[in-house]
Amino acid sequence: MTLGYNTTMTEKNLLDSHHVKMVTVYASSSAALKPVYYDSARRLGEILALAGKSITYGAGGGGLMGAVADGALSKNGEVYGVVPNFLQELELTHRGLTNLKIVGDMRERKHFMLQNSDAVVTLPGGSGTYEEVFEALTMKRLGQWIGPIIIVNTIGFYDGLLAFLNHSVDERFMGRRHLEMWSVVDEPEQVPAALENAHAWGSDALEYANVTNANA
Ligand code: AMP
Repeated sequence: MTLGYNTTMTEKNLLDSHHVKMVTVYASSSAALKPVYYDSARRLGEILALAGKSITYGAGGGGLMGAVADGALSKNGEVYGVVPNFLQELELTHRGLTNLKIVGDMRERKHFMLQNSDAVVTLPGGSGTYEEVFEALTMKRLGQWIGPIIIVNTIGFYDGLLAFLNHSVDERFMGRRHLEMWSVVDEPEQVPAALENAHAWGSDALEYANVTNANA
């Protein structure tokens, strides 16, 4: 089931799919999920690689993170991992990446992953994934980072979160226009088109970041 704002063909993002070279992927670290989640993550990696996109992600070797990286690497894609020192020492990082960047802490990692990406794709995840995607949404709302944000709603995992975001708009904590910040797809095969058709967004977003009676 797809909830939320559907992208339109009329207003294309300035950063259309052809200009999206680096995609940051947020995804679960869990090794205890239903197989359908790993299958979808692996397919996302394959599809992005076949579409000529490079991937930046949290460098994990397991969970949905590892599945994305394995999928992309299997199709000769470039996969860049960004990991804080303390996690690297746990030896959970993927060993076959194109490049591994070691950073000081989680904040630095999150900042680097977003600022070096043309677009964000999020797969199902837990608190770490939520934090990452919400930072991207907040930065986009403030016009500080303006790329497409695609939510892969595997077997409806994000239905509850999407309903809550809509509720936030209905209750005027966010404006109607903020529903244009993200696109929702059910399957990874839909991601390239979603990147291409993502709604235009610019640094003028700051002008309507705050909700008023005029723009609610
Ligand atoms: P979660 O959804 O809570 O499993 O967190 C996954 C997200 O947080 C990923 O996108 C990573 O960037 C980061 N993260 C959390 N745990 C790890 C881990 N063990 N290894 C690498 N990255 C992690």
